[in-house]
Amino acid sequence: MRPLIAHIDTAALAHNLGVAKAAAPSSRVLAVVKANGYGHGLGRVARALRAADGYAVLALEEAVQLRGEGYSHPIVLLEGFFHPDELPEIARLHLRPVLHRQDQIETVARARLEHRVDVLLKIDTGMHRLGLRPARVAEALAALRAAPHVASITLMSHFACADDPVVGVAEQLALFRKTTGDGPLPITLANSAAILRYPDTHGDWVRPGIMLYGISPFPGQVGADLGLLPVMTLESRLIAVQRICRGEAVGYGACFVAERDLSVGVVAVGYADGYPRHAGNGTPILVEGHLTRTLGRVSMDMLSVDLTPVPHAHVGSPVTLWGADLPAERVAAHAGTLAYELLTALAPRVRVVEI
Ligand SMILES: *Cc1c(COP(=O)(O)O)cnc(C)c1O
Repeated sequence: MRPLIAHIDTAALAHNLGVAKAAAPSSRVLAVVKANGYGHGLGRVARALRAADGYAVLALEEAVQLRGEGYSHPIVLLEGFFHPDELPEIARLHLRPVLHRQDQIETVARARLEHRVDVLLKIDTGMHRLGLRPARVAEALAALRAAPHVASITLMSHFACADDPVVGVAEQLALFRKTTGDGPLPITLANSAAILRYPDTHGDWVRPGIMLYGISPFPGQVGADLGLLPVMTLESRLIAVQRICRGEAVGYGACFVAERDLSVGVVAVGYADGYPRHAGNGTPILVEGHLTRTLGRVSMDMLSVDLTPVPHAHVGSPVTLWGADLPAERVAAHAGTLAYELLTALAPRVRVVEI
């Protein structure tokens, strides 16, 4: 078998949920498990996080899976329904759609359903992605309050820059408060960054995503700095060792040319597994636990590493791509991306083992 394995530490998931709860002790926690549990496996993540007060997913299929596995938690559909035909099943399964467009509100207001639905009304307070403009909110609320099949309404918004210490959330939070007043409706605003940095955003429900997977939402910090434990450790092994002479090149495009004779290991992982192709020469990587660097371009199924710090390494030596002892945030920074993308890009062909 190919030696590439993603180890998933389910106890670390539960620990990180505890960190979110401790950071927002008066709020209920909606564990965000979209994108196949940020690449860790929806079913596995839901099980490890069953102490959460609810789950947030993207699409009906994911919610159907969770209900099928027996979870009776509140389940929020972050983009609501993609077609009005989904509404009867949403109501039957007691799912909670986010309503972010006028036509979704009209559909819910007109619908004849067997069960009443709990809805979230999404307000665009400045991110300009999803949500109603503040000026449209009063009218939408009136329509939803008058709708016979709406059981409850939660007010929602999302921050564009909660991870940015300069911009932050102040403007969006002020606009949210101005729009919604101090009414009785429950609210939900905070993603991981806002949970950790802005207690005044916590409200009734917080929505941690990335922090549950042990990753820092803040640039320049890693999960461990925030008391989080990494959940996914991606490991492989050396499948070849090459002696390269000074002046010889390694990999496609001959992007790395040896400045001296050196020993190069070939690792069974590539971009078709989700390792970022844009991780250039010098991306940190562990061989037998020793920090070293990648060399040359990442191939589809392989990449090369400098074995200078690990002269005893051999075919079969273990290699850590990210996770325990090598934060995914550091690898992502070398690839010009975020750990969010590394985790969610893990390919289906990668074997997953729970630890
Ligand atoms: C993905 C998502 C979250 C979680 O964000 P993190 O940065 O991963 O904590 C919260 N709310 C909404 C609406 C989202 O789409």
